Amino acid sequence: MRRTLALALTLAPAFVASAQCPTHPQPIVTAFPIHSMDRPQPRVVTPAPAGAPVPAPSDAIVLFDGKDLSGWRNADSADKPAGWRVKDGYMEVVAKSGDIRTARAFGDIQLHVEWMAPTPAEGEGQERGNSGVYLQSTYEVQVLDSYDNPTYADGAAASLFGQYPPLVNASRPPGQWQTYDIIFHRARFDHDGTLMCAARVTVVQNGVLVQNDAVLTGPTAYKRRPPYDPKMPDAMPLLLQDHGHPVRFRDIWVRELGDAAE
Ligand code: MG
Repeated sequence: MRRTLALALTLAPAFVASAQCPTHPQPIVTAFPIHSMDRPQPRVVTPAPAGAPVPAPSDAIVLFDGKDLSGWRNADSADKPAGWRVKDGYMEVVAKSGDIRTARAFGDIQLHVEWMAPTPAEGEGQERGNSGVYLQSTYEVQVLDSYDNPTYADGAAASLFGQYPPLVNASRPPGQWQTYDIIFHRARFDHDGTLMCAARVTVVQNGVLVQNDAVLTGPTAYKRRPPYDPKMPDAMPLLLQDHGHPVRFRDIWVRELGDAAE
C-alpha cells in the first residue's frame, strides 16, 4: 500500500494559493497513465439495499420529477428537444439521440440523482451501462455498470473520469436503482484568468463515500487531462451523457450552494 501511494501521488505545480482560497488543497495527479489497467481496482463494498426515491428537500430545484423532460434540452442544440424516453417515472437514454442538459445553469451545487444500469448486462468494461453526470457540462462523474465488471479504475462508476477512481466500488447490480449525492464547488479564476481555486467534488454512492472532496485537475476528457478554461462561465447546465446504452435516471434534484468558494 505504501509503495503504491509513493508511486501514485505527486503534486501538480500549477495551482496558486490565494486570499480567495487560502487553504485550498492541491490536486493529486497520479503517476499512472490515464486509463491505466495497472491502477489498482477499487475495493468492493456491498451497499445497503436499494430503496424508494429520496424526496427533495424544500429548497431544492427538481430537475426531473418522472413526468417529462421540460427542464431539459438536447445538449448540442437548444432548439432541439431532449430526445430521451420517459416512462413509468424514469427517463432512459435513447442511443444516438445525444447528450441532454438542463435548461438552467448552475455553479456550486448539492445534487441528488438516481440511475439504473440495463439488465441483462451486455458488453464489457466501458461498454456496459455507460452514461455520465457532467457537472457544469464539463466534469464527468462516471455512470457505469461496475458490478463485477472490471475496467480501468479511473473510469469505473463514480470515478471522476480519467482523474480519480472511486475510493471503493459501492455498485449495486444492474437493474437496481443507485443513488449519487454530489457536492460540487466550481473552479474560480482571477480577473486575469489565473486559476485560483480548482473545482472540487464529493460523491456518496448508495450511502457510501466514494469521492472525498477530490480536487479536479481540469475538465474531463478521454485519454488526456486538459487544463482549466478560464473563460468558462460561472454557471453552466448539468449534462447527462448518451453513451449509447439504455441507462435510466429518476429523482434528480439540486440545491444551489451560493457563491462561497469554501
Ligand atoms: Mg460515461
